[in-house]
Amino acid sequence: MNKISITKNRTVTILLIISSILFSAKVMMSQSTKQWYKGQTHAHSNKSDGDSFPRQVVRWYFEHEYNFLVLTDHYTVTDITYLNPYKDQNFILIPGEEVTDTFEKKALHVNAINLKSTIAAKHGSNVVETLQNDIDSLIAAGAITQLNHPNWLWSITVDDIIKLKNVKLMEIYNVNRDSNNFSAGGSPGMEEVWDRVLSAGICIYGVATDDTHDYEGEFRIEKAYPGKGWVMVRATELTIEAICDALNKGDFYASTGIVLNDISTTSKEYKLEIKQLGDEKYTTQFIGKNGEILKTEFGLTPVYMFKNTEMYVRARVTSTNGVIAITQPFFLKEKQIE
Ligand SMILES: [Zn+2]
Ligand SMILES: [Zn+2]
Repeated sequence: MNKISITKNRTVTILLIISSILFSAKVMMSQSTKQWYKGQTHAHSNKSDGDSFPRQVVRWYFEHEYNFLVLTDHYTVTDITYLNPYKDQNFILIPGEEVTDTFEKKALHVNAINLKSTIAAKHGSNVVETLQNDIDSLIAAGAITQLNHPNWLWSITVDDIIKLKNVKLMEIYNVNRDSNNFSAGGSPGMEEVWDRVLSAGICIYGVATDDTHDYEGEFRIEKAYPGKGWVMVRATELTIEAICDALNKGDFYASTGIVLNDISTTSKEYKLEIKQLGDEKYTTQFIGKNGEILKTEFGLTPVYMFKNTEMYVRARVTSTNGVIAITQPFFLKEKQIE
């Protein structure tokens, strides 16, 4: 091989290396364009029955490293126009309302996320009709719907939820004392309710929320303090549009204390990457139709390989410190139909 061809070969090799570096940089960039943003989709101020001014509520969530807050006062969209002095510090506000309806003493509350102006409760002649009337008016206004605390006062049953249309999110862990989140006494907890709804072929995404009312005073178990349940949303940027887009697509998880570095689903597997916090240990359960535990794994990188007989698969991570994370259902059957 002469000198010129060696130089040519070297040049080609160098060009190949450079282009491969550029290609992998591009791939890495496309994978890393999304980030996790911590958010709260249910909080009250003294514009309804919270104990603090909206500005104080906003400050609490900003100071505790949240990236977004949906203020959801009862009966009213609290004006957020001049409420956020932290706009340039990785924190946004999304307008919202807790549409507060009732039927025969049942609490029928639906959060409207990204609602521009107040919508009154529409009422109805039974639980399902009341909720659907409210949901329809929120959908028409372009908001994301979140069914709140179904088990509070045992207000909304599985059968009711299955009949509803256009519920996008549902509170699985509204962390208040009276939300009846867990199964006991023969009544289904919210994860059991969720699995029954999913098993009926209805895809609703699960959230954890504070439903904060109390920012001040004595710490007592019956009070609704902030900072106990939230969502981590994976979005391209911190804007109302990007966060709402990710919520609509289910690109988020709900947590009461666990941090996930990554969630990935392909046609072959459902995989999590858990961030190690302190010395706590983790158990991950992959859950399928009717709440069946498909697999249990320990460690920081649990994986479930699909058998392709599952209707859907979701994951639940618990830690030795009693906190949890729930990820969204991945529907295989729906995928097969597509
Ligand atoms: Zn409520
Ligand atoms: Zn509330």
